[in-house]
Amino acid sequence: MATGLRPMSKQIKILIVEDNPVNLELFSDILSLTDYQYLTATSGEEAIEIALRELPNIILLDIQLPSMDGITVAKILREKEQTRGCKIIALTAHAMKGDRENFIKLGFDGYISKPIVVKDFLREIASYASE
Ligand code: MN
Repeated sequence: MATGLRPMSKQIKILIVEDNPVNLELFSDILSLTDYQYLTATSGEEAIEIALRELPNIILLDIQLPSMDGITVAKILREKEQTRGCKIIALTAHAMKGDRENFIKLGFDGYISKPIVVKDFLREIASYASE
């Protein structure tokens, strides 16, 4: 076996986009305990700027953001060549029936409802990280 081979998760970069400081701290704290690299943004405009610069593998994108909402951010990222292939996961408190299908139609790869369950949150991220 080759030594020094890094586990797959080391190469995964996640951008968390969340305007609620309590949620942002929670998501950051959880990811800081993993091997994932993570970055944070608190607005849609900042998310687009960071995503284009850092090219994250996964973007956890809050839907309800000040000024530019998450749906608009996802649409813009899908139109850009550099970020077209990012996995974009919607984060929303509105856990309504049919939401997942609606988010997929809007260009998201998946959906995580808040409040999160830590184990499920990590399992969901792992499923996108392994693709
Ligand atoms: Mn929000």
